[in-house]
Amino acid sequence: MNSSFDVIIVGAGAAGLICSSSAGKFGRKVLLLEHSERVGKKILISGGGRCNFTNLTIAPDNFISANPFFCKSALSRYSQNDFIELVEKYNIPYHEKEFGQLFCDNKSSDIVNMLLKECIDSGVEIRTSCTIDKINKQNKFTLHTNAGIFEAESLVIATGGLSIPKMGATDFGLKAADQFGINIIPCRPGLVPLLLNEKMIRKLGDLAGISADSVVSCGKRSFRGSILFTHKGLSGPAVLQISNYWNDGQEISINFLPEADLKEQIRKWKVEKPKAELKNLLSALLTKRLSHRLLLMNHGDKPVNQYNEKEISEIADTFHQWKVIPSGTDGFEKAEVTLGGIDTRELSSKTFECKKVKGLFFIGEVVDVTGWLGGYNFQWAWSSGFCAGQYV
Ligand SMILES: Cc1cc2nc3c(=O)[nH]c(=O)nc-3n(C[C@H](O)[C@H](O)[C@H](O)COP(=O)(O)OP(=O)(O)OC[C@H]3O[C@@H](n4cnc5c(N)ncnc54)[C@H](O)[C@@H]3O)c2cc1C
Repeated sequence: MNSSFDVIIVGAGAAGLICSSSAGKFGRKVLLLEHSERVGKKILISGGGRCNFTNLTIAPDNFISANPFFCKSALSRYSQNDFIELVEKYNIPYHEKEFGQLFCDNKSSDIVNMLLKECIDSGVEIRTSCTIDKINKQNKFTLHTNAGIFEAESLVIATGGLSIPKMGATDFGLKAADQFGINIIPCRPGLVPLLLNEKMIRKLGDLAGISADSVVSCGKRSFRGSILFTHKGLSGPAVLQISNYWNDGQEISINFLPEADLKEQIRKWKVEKPKAELKNLLSALLTKRLSHRLLLMNHGDKPVNQYNEKEISEIADTFHQWKVIPSGTDGFEKAEVTLGGIDTRELSSKTFECKKVKGLFFIGEVVDVTGWLGGYNFQWAWSSGFCAGQYV
């Protein structure tokens, strides 16, 4: 087998697979190297096994990056509609769940099989269980691996983020960046459950399993969706979303009753049901265990007509703006994505080539572009991978 290629792509995840087929179709001779025993492992486990592969509405505001404009070009050159067209070409059944999120009807493996077929049809050579020991660069890149030595004009790093190491995540991309003097924006877990301190867990730990439709805010960002109490803290889609914007020591605020005006409601109850206990009335609006706990922890319980205006205001604040400072995150073990990564100032937003190192490209999650929950992270992988594939 010939060990000389036009392009070597490291990492056969979402970005690496689409970049390989895009470059292959462009007539490039492509080698795709993957250290796991199979390709696309994160795609397979994504979206609860049904891969939320994109979103009907994608805009740069759905992404976090030190340079919020960097993602714009690729997202418009290979958009959600281009990926949907590909999915439809393969007759893969899908549906919209909520908020424009598109999921496979069947299994995530539909997406992996589609990408594999695209790679095979474009003549991409794929090697799994391949570990790379060393990268050298003279005129070309030379990769020393357990499967031999390979060389190529272009090297694409598509090794993803640091989340879920047991699924094959490594810091290979960050080390490669280091080797070539490429700046890195410090990494931290994103789309990750938030932890509460021991004192709070003693008060709330037994609510584990309870969820509530809420609005969660941190600074100027807010997300509506389900939050879930866990044995260690808070999770659920709205909490995962806000975790992308949360920094150590910051307070988050939860509105457990986004549809209600509790102050007004309590005033009404005082007239309509003066003798009823507030705790019983509240359970009509919010899960009983949660509403009782929030009320009793802070305000005691008595018939509704015995609360004065000041107390009513305080109760409304507890339910509409419950404030807590998380003690941390559940870390890369539980995070869906990695915030930070290759500094976008080092890359061309058109080609994804490093400005300093000719022929070296970074794509996908390893780059400092992180999406919201809802198909945005895969779309970034598709957009950056496909666009880079045209230039590698
Ligand atoms: C549980 C979970 C569920 C998710 N669900 C969704 C979802 O539904 N929708 C969504 O948009 N996003 C989802 N994401 C995020 C999404 O999976 C990633 O953002 C996306 O996979 C990133 O694509 P990538 O190609 O950059 O990286 P990856 O898909 O992670 O691919 C990187 C590849 O590189 C390989 N690799 C790593 N190190 C080396 C090395 N040293 N040598 C060779 N190969 C290496 C890895 O094994 C992997 O195959 C989810 C993430 C997780 C963890």
